[in-house]
Amino acid sequence: TVRTRVAPSPTGDPHVGTAYIALINYCFAKKHGGEFLLRIEDTDQARSTLQSEKMILDSLRWLGLSWDEGPDVGGPHGPYRQSERSAIYTEHCDRLLADGHAFKCYCTSEKLTAMRRHQIAAKQPPKYDGTCLSLTDADRAKLDAEGVSHVVRMKIPTEGKCVVQDTLRGEIEFEYAVVDMQVLMKSDGLPTYHLANVVDDHLMGITHVMRGEEWISSAPKHLLLYQYFGWEPPVLTHLPLLRNADKSKLSKRKNPTSILFYQRAGYLPQAMQNFLGLFIKSASEEDEKTSLQELIDGFDVHNISLGGPVFDTSKLDWLNGRYLREELDVGQFLDAVKAWALNDAYLTPIAEMAQARITKLSDLGSLTGMFFMNRIDGLTADALRDGVKIDQDQQRAAYTLALQQFDGLIEWNKEGVETTLRRTAEVLETKLKDVIRPMYIAITGQPQGVPLFDAIVHLGRDIIRERLRHAME
Ligand code: ATP
Ligand code: GLU
Repeated sequence: TVRTRVAPSPTGDPHVGTAYIALINYCFAKKHGGEFLLRIEDTDQARSTLQSEKMILDSLRWLGLSWDEGPDVGGPHGPYRQSERSAIYTEHCDRLLADGHAFKCYCTSEKLTAMRRHQIAAKQPPKYDGTCLSLTDADRAKLDAEGVSHVVRMKIPTEGKCVVQDTLRGEIEFEYAVVDMQVLMKSDGLPTYHLANVVDDHLMGITHVMRGEEWISSAPKHLLLYQYFGWEPPVLTHLPLLRNADKSKLSKRKNPTSILFYQRAGYLPQAMQNFLGLFIKSASEEDEKTSLQELIDGFDVHNISLGGPVFDTSKLDWLNGRYLREELDVGQFLDAVKAWALNDAYLTPIAEMAQARITKLSDLGSLTGMFFMNRIDGLTADALRDGVKIDQDQQRAAYTLALQQFDGLIEWNKEGVETTLRRTAEVLETKLKDVIRPMYIAITGQPQGVPLFDAIVHLGRDIIRERLRHAME
């Protein structure tokens, strides 16, 4: 049976690109009566969080996708979270070492940096030079005894080439001379993406790997690993990445990329699912409204054009409007509004914030209206400067600094928000309150209002990014 998977890394907000790739894997599996799995690739311990994992699962489910096996639903090939599979990777890495397909590398990071610098200067591709390949057993025993730490790297043939068969691109050739001796196991004993990904795809019985094209250059390493282990590799399909209107890779600096943004901005899951589905429908299909079942029935991987699908939000708006106006009766429309924001989960924190600042209930509209908007439209240049003490350049710098730090926060919470704004004030050598006021204006449209840090947390990272960017336009 066909088995596909989506394998997100829980290192941030749920990305629309992850949803697009999940949808393709889902439709392909279901079209062939197969199974679709969800695996969490959390080998990057420093950046992975359970909060992010939960958001990814919730978002994919919101979009109407479900998986036959996964960390939350279990299954016969678990665990489905790589951080819980360390022993499996160690065992497989040891096997590669014993068979002579991998070697221990004791090079220090200083040495590797110098190596890279040297190669860049000599216009050579930066890659490991193979120093530790020539160590003898005695050398290694001595280094181990001295407590020198090591990583494990895979061996790469010194000549010849690897031919990658890709469903959409045909044969792609890579000279082994340009393939790096990839680290498989880090010095802390945890695997890298490459080892964990190959071992898991095999052990989980994945027959077809469909993933973003940014992984093409990793395919030769992966195919070699399959060969070293004596396993049959899956069929590989590298999918074109979603693009901004200017054809650059979709990135949050130009377009919101988080599914949470589209939820908060009031898009219906059906519209979002339909919109992502358009990328996998053939161009000749006239009717643009489509259901998940239609996507499955009509799925043909060759409909996916390598040209680079443009994430055109005006098309999403158009579809969403149609769903809201045409697909719902007034009761369903009201249900959609409730699910969006008129529910206790969304309203309770707002009520707490409003209560702290309210005089009469009819203040509620002006105090909290901004929780029910996307951008703050109609902010004039004068309004943006209303009572702001820092000069205009500093105000822009404050927005830029805050944006950068917000993007870097691993956890989105009040402490992080407060630290960000304090640090922004410090960098600008001004008082916190002189940064707070312009933040209030950009984020709430008014120079003051409900408690700002709580409001920022509640609005979410993406709406905040959108409003700060908008204030700088
Ligand atoms: P940004 O540039 O906005 O920070 P990113 O590339 O850093 O985005 P990641 O957090 O690295 O995004 O990626 C999260 C997931 O989304 C990955 O699985 C990645 O393959 C996928 N992804 C990222 N960008 C795209 C894209 N343009 N098209 C399809 N998938 C994407
Ligand atoms: N964890 C990888 C990612 O998030 C998975 C890539 C793959 O599908 O092999 O992009």
